[in-house]
Amino acid sequence: MEFNKCPQCGSFFAYSGKMCPNCANKDNTRIQKLENYLLNYSVPDTVEELSANTGIPEKDLNRYINENKKFQNLF
Ligand SMILES: [Zn+2]
Repeated sequence: MEFNKCPQCGSFFAYSGKMCPNCANKDNTRIQKLENYLLNYSVPDTVEELSANTGIPEKDLNRYINENKKFQNLF
């Protein structure tokens, strides 16, 4: 069996995907939160502010913005 190392938490997982199931779940929850926020509020000036308002860590927000086309024009 082939194992992949999760870039987020460093644990190993046995299916093909970018990260382990735990981190993928966390990401999905956060992305939903972010989408919800964007539906209800206008985009703040900085990622810092968005992080404070959504409770999503800045490094994760930056990752979503880089990886996800629908967030790429936010800032
Ligand atoms: Zn992980």
